Amino acid sequence: MKKNQIQFQRGYSLLELFNDYGSEEQCTQALFKWKWPEGFICPECGSQSFCTLKSRKVYQCNHCHHQTSLTSGTIFASTKLPLSRWFLSIHLVTQSKTGLSALELKRQVGVSYNTAWGMKQKIMQVMKEGDDRKPLSGIIQLDDVYWGGELQGGSRGRGSKNKTPFVAAVSINEEGHPIAMNMNVVKGFRLTEISRWANQHLEPGSTVVSDGLACFSAVKDANCNHVSIITGGGPQSVTKTEFAWVNTMIGNVKNAITGTYHSINSNHLPRYLAEFCYRYNRRFQLKDLLPRFAYVAVRTPPMPLRLLSMAEDYG
Ligand SMILES: [Zn+2]
Repeated sequence: MKKNQIQFQRGYSLLELFNDYGSEEQCTQALFKWKWPEGFICPECGSQSFCTLKSRKVYQCNHCHHQTSLTSGTIFASTKLPLSRWFLSIHLVTQSKTGLSALELKRQVGVSYNTAWGMKQKIMQVMKEGDDRKPLSGIIQLDDVYWGGELQGGSRGRGSKNKTPFVAAVSINEEGHPIAMNMNVVKGFRLTEISRWANQHLEPGSTVVSDGLACFSAVKDANCNHVSIITGGGPQSVTKTEFAWVNTMIGNVKNAITGTYHSINSNHLPRYLAEFCYRYNRRFQLKDLLPRFAYVAVRTPPMPLRLLSMAEDYG
């Protein structure tokens, strides 16, 4: 697909959103369908027979009398917000091209800052889970990056202190155009870490192109081929065509994160990275972003309160 086909594809407008998911009844019906596509299944006994306790929005199993709700066990668990606000937030975050800060979400959805921050983190967590299920394949450019430290926005260079290491990977097609990308925080650039990462995020049989950093040979543990290109370091190394796309993507994501968020805590970096990869990987699918997102959301476990009390990120 050419660039203008991405830009001019049929999207999904706010008017369509309000038309499809403007009322609680519409949202409830939609969520039911995404949670139980084959009809209700009791999480306790597997029975399909149920009745609805309307007053408490609870579904009760006719066999074992277990009670469950649409949101229990999902990322929406124990929410006090109407589903329509959630759907609006999901729409705004997934459709935003450069990222939407919690402050902006607070204004556009009409909730408190802390509520917006919590929703934003949960939405990004779903994006991360969605992308974690999609390993890259084919020809993959791989690079090591650091985030934070003295230079906000991250920098290149290895062994930097107080910085968060992450791997950036971009799959390209035979014409050399980028297909999908993946950015994941790792504990360090060690063989065991890269092996663990590769087994989760790469399809066996892929060909990985990296520079000479020794740990990258661990992609062979995931049955991938490895081509190592010695760059010699220095400013020339980043312009090598073998790494052109991964370097472009790293630059884009760093600019987008620093442009949208004043500062972010490195504990949350995996989710901010996932936000940009998720959107990029679905750039041809703007029309059905919401149903696809919701399908993953009802399969994403609740986020611990501990994580959500860390609203120190500003933005
Ligand atoms: Zn049951």
